[in-house]
Amino acid sequence: MAYKTVNPYNNELVKEYPSATADDIEKALSTGYALYKKWRDEPAASRADALHKIADLLRKNEDELAKIATTDMGKLYAESKGEVELCAIIADYYADNGAEMLKPTPISSRNTGDAEIYHQSTGVLMMVEPWNFPYYQIMRVFAPNFMVGNPMILKHASNTPGSAEAFEKIVKDSGAAAGSLTNLFASYDQVSEIIADPRVQGVALTGSKRGGQSVAENAGKNLKKNSMELGGSDAFVVLSDADVDKAVDLAWRVRIYNAGQVCTSDKRFIVADNLYDEFLKKLKANFEKLVPGDPMDPKTTIAPMNSKRAKEKLQGQIDKAVAGGAKVYYGNEPVDLPGQFLQPTILTDIDKDNPEFYDEMFGPVAQVFKVGSDQEAIDLANDSELGLGGIVVSEDAQHGKAVAEKIETGMVFVNSFLVSLPELPFGGVKGSGYGRELSQLGLNAFTNEKLIVTAQEPDWNNPAGGLAVFNGK
Ligand code: NAP
Repeated sequence: MAYKTVNPYNNELVKEYPSATADDIEKALSTGYALYKKWRDEPAASRADALHKIADLLRKNEDELAKIATTDMGKLYAESKGEVELCAIIADYYADNGAEMLKPTPISSRNTGDAEIYHQSTGVLMMVEPWNFPYYQIMRVFAPNFMVGNPMILKHASNTPGSAEAFEKIVKDSGAAAGSLTNLFASYDQVSEIIADPRVQGVALTGSKRGGQSVAENAGKNLKKNSMELGGSDAFVVLSDADVDKAVDLAWRVRIYNAGQVCTSDKRFIVADNLYDEFLKKLKANFEKLVPGDPMDPKTTIAPMNSKRAKEKLQGQIDKAVAGGAKVYYGNEPVDLPGQFLQPTILTDIDKDNPEFYDEMFGPVAQVFKVGSDQEAIDLANDSELGLGGIVVSEDAQHGKAVAEKIETGMVFVNSFLVSLPELPFGGVKGSGYGRELSQLGLNAFTNEKLIVTAQEPDWNNPAGGLAVFNGK
C-alpha cells in the first residue's frame, strides 16, 4: 500500500512518500545488526542519556509533532499534544529505571553455585504499528528495547508516514546511534522478508486481527518470538450501586476520545437495569453536545475518523447491526462536513444473533446493553472473542474489584478510565493477542532470559546425581 498523508478533516493529499527499496532494507538490517553487536558490549545505562534527550526533544517539538499527527490521522490537536507528552514520560521512565530493571536476577538454588538470570538483548526487532496513536505506539516498543539493546526497524501504518518520519528524526537528533530505530516505508512482502532474516530476532505488532494473523504466521514460520497487541471490544460495566452521573461522565469520554478509535476504548456498555434508562438518556445528552470540526480548532470536540476506508467500514457495521435488529437510540445521521466525520451513535437491542454482536466497532459508536445482575454483566462482558481491557463502575470499590476479577481481559480499571503508563503492563488475552508492552513485562518481552550459574568447582554430591555417575564419580 502506498504511504501517503491524506488529511481526514478536508481530504487533501498532503504528501506521498517513496516506498522502501531492497537497498534500504539491507542497510537497515546491517546497520541494526552491527549496532546490536556493539551494544552487547556496552552497559544499558550508557543509553539512558540519549533516551532522556529524546524525551526533551519530544517536549521541545510538541506543537509541531502534534500538528503532524493531527494532519496524518485527524485526532484533536490537544489529544495529539497529550500523546507527545505521554511518549516523553515513557522515555524518561525507561531512561531512569531501565538499567536497574535489567540487572541480573539472582535465583535461590541448591548448591550448584550462584544462579542468576541475565536479561540480555537478542537482536534486531521488527515493529509494525498502527495509526491511532502514531507516536505512542512506537514508543511503547522503542523505549524499553532501546535500553535492552535491541535495535529496531519500524513499519508504520501507510496513512501516518509523516508521524513515522518525525519520530525517526527525533531519535536521530538525540544523538542515539544510527540504526537505533530505522523507519521503512515497507510493503507487506518486505515486512515478511525482514522477519525471515536471521539478524531479526523479534516481531512486535499492534493492529487488527487481520494484520496480526498474517505477521504472527510469518513470525511463527521463522520461529521468531513475537508479541501481538490486537483489537478490543471492552466492556464498561455499570453495577447497580453505581452513581449514574459519575458513570456517564466516564462513559462518554472513554467512547469519544480519539474519535472512538482506541483499542481499549470501551465499546460495550453493560448497565444494571435500575440505571439503564437514565444512563442512556444522559449518555445521549453528552453525545448531543459534541461539536465536529477542524481538529486543530480548540472548539472542536469530536474529530473526524482517520480515513475514508475506516469511516465506510464503521458505517457498514452500523447498517448491518441495524438490519440485524439493533435500534438507533441516537445518531447515525450524516455530518455536513467534507471530512471523514461519523456522528456519535448509540445502539441498543443488540442480540447475540445480531451479525455485529462479536465485532469491534472502531469509532464513535456505543453499544448499550441492559442486565439484571452482576453475574449477567460478567457473562456478557466475557461473551467476546476479544479480551483486552475494561472498566467497572460502582460506589463500592471492593464490589467493583470483585467483578473486575471475573472479567477475562488483560486489564480492568475500577472507577477510572483505563490509563496507560510506563510502569503498567499493557496487553490482552484471547483474540486481543498475547504478550505485554510496557512495565517490567514489556521490558523483558524480547530479552534473552539467560541463566548463568557460577561455581568454584563441580559439586559431585549434587542431588542431580545422574550427572555425577556419568562423569565416573
Ligand atoms: P491493521 O490494518 O492491522 O494495521 C496495523 C499495522 O499493521 C499497519 O502498519 C499495517 O500496515 C500493518 N499490517 C497490516 N497487515 C499487514 C501484513 N499482512 N503484513 C505486514 N503489515 C501489516 O490495523 P488497523 O485496523 O489499522 O488498526 C486498528 C486495530 O488495531 C484495531 O483492531 C485496534 O483495536 C487495534 N489496536 C490495538 C492496540 C493494542 O495495543 N492492543 C492498540 C491500538 C490499536 P498498512 O497501514 O500499510 O496496512
